Amino acid sequence: MNNDIKEILITEDEIINRCKELGKEITKDYQGKTPILIGLLKGSVPFLAELMKRIEINMEIDFMDVSSYSGTESTGDVRIDKDLSNSIVGDDVIVVEDIVDTGKTLQKVVGLLYSKGANSVRIVSLLDKPERRIVDLKADYIGFTIPDAFVVGFGLDFNQKYRNLPYVGILKEDCYKE
Ligand code: 5GP
Repeated sequence: MNNDIKEILITEDEIINRCKELGKEITKDYQGKTPILIGLLKGSVPFLAELMKRIEINMEIDFMDVSSYSGTESTGDVRIDKDLSNSIVGDDVIVVEDIVDTGKTLQKVVGLLYSKGANSVRIVSLLDKPERRIVDLKADYIGFTIPDAFVVGFGLDFNQKYRNLPYVGILKEDCYKE
């Protein structure tokens, strides 16, 4: 598995240290509130697990599984494969994502969460690829900004594999071609 990686972009230590910083920021920003971290399955799981340990106020977690489909290519749309377990009416929600690429998925998810009655919705993403953005969307908290390359690890997959790598890396080209 490790042999399939061309280059490690972000090490495990760097991710852990950044999660500590992000946790501090979120702790400060949400004083007196009980935010709900909503992880988008499956890619956000390792990041959410690392980040939540660094948030030092009461908080809750929930998960959603959404898939984009592009019947209408330019707008994109989102299908809910697994919905939230609990109501979020009046809640302060932080969506946890692995990477913001075109931004289409998150834009739809934010709208969806407001339509479910959230009081506020912010986004925390482990990675951001601003060069690829198609819609006007900015994450509120970003772990790392990366160049336009296809990355795997720390939750990010290729054909469902490599999510368990403890770092973020670029796949070797011959792994795509098989
Ligand atoms: P968006 O709607 O922002 O284009 O889609 C974001 C989703 O695309 C991410 O949650 C992720 O599943 C996938 N994605 C975008 N870029 C990458 C990448 O470099 N590597 C992997 N493994 N997935 C990516």
